[in-house]
Amino acid sequence: MNEAQRQEYLRAMGIQNWIPRSAVAEAESIGPDNMEPKMIESAHVEPDSIGRAAAPERRTPPPPATLSPPRPVVRAEPPPSAADEPPSWLDEVPPPADEYLPAVDQGDHADRFGDADLMDDGVSRLDWAGLEARVAHCEACELHKSRTRTVFGVGRRDADLMIIGEAPGADEDRKGEPFVGRAGQLLNAMLKAIGLGREQVYIANILKCRPPGNRDPRAEEALQCAPYLQRQVALVKPRVILAVGAVAARNLLQRDEAVGRLRGGQHQFNGIPVVVTYHPAYLLRSPEQKAKAWQDLQKAARLIQ
Ligand code: SF4
Repeated sequence: MNEAQRQEYLRAMGIQNWIPRSAVAEAESIGPDNMEPKMIESAHVEPDSIGRAAAPERRTPPPPATLSPPRPVVRAEPPPSAADEPPSWLDEVPPPADEYLPAVDQGDHADRFGDADLMDDGVSRLDWAGLEARVAHCEACELHKSRTRTVFGVGRRDADLMIIGEAPGADEDRKGEPFVGRAGQLLNAMLKAIGLGREQVYIANILKCRPPGNRDPRAEEALQCAPYLQRQVALVKPRVILAVGAVAARNLLQRDEAVGRLRGGQHQFNGIPVVVTYHPAYLLRSPEQKAKAWQDLQKAARLIQ
């Protein structure tokens, strides 16, 4: 607002302008032609950023509060929470450059899950209801002491695509469902990108109970829990397994290598092709890897066509 507008504004509000005597005297000594600029200097005080009147010049009396109505404080909208952000990773991923031809890998990891069969204890003969009940009451490893609830698995029990992650986190431990929270949202978006809803796949973890502090599962815990996952895979009979993250890939394939080295390879678990990719939680921290994850997803999609 310039001075003329401000004066008009004050007149419209019925507010009399206040002019200090010293300014009038000084203006009269200078002459009428130069008076207005002096009035502006003495009467106009810019409010600071939160609407308070700034300190006046030393020679200028403080203006009445009505002279310059405080500007409304405009607060910036808070940024949308990360959980509200629509996943945009599809915008930046190129099409895959390679073709994936599933083949039996006869490497040195045929004896997957080590001695898991010794831990079976009849698990391999259980149906879905029996398996779920066995897991719910399992105390085979120390993790049962700190869990809120077991996280059995969700989804379609005759799905073509089975997704296997590592272990429940805090959200999963509370809800009893794998892949919830931000990582779960990204996983849902990844599935949607290949034309699948979450309810069309089966999702499980290597471990059914949360390791304290989200630490990595220990070998003995994975071994104790392995019969449950093996039975889930046998019951679902998926055409493809998507192993997300290093823990899932290493335990399924019995290969102590990084995801970066395992992904893109041709693997199997009990005769079922395994596609290795990054965990959604890792992709949230390292979005530059999303393009590779997209390639892995497309490989998995081609295998179930
Ligand atoms: S993690 Fe697996 S083996 Fe350990 S208590 Fe839970 S269900 Fe049982």
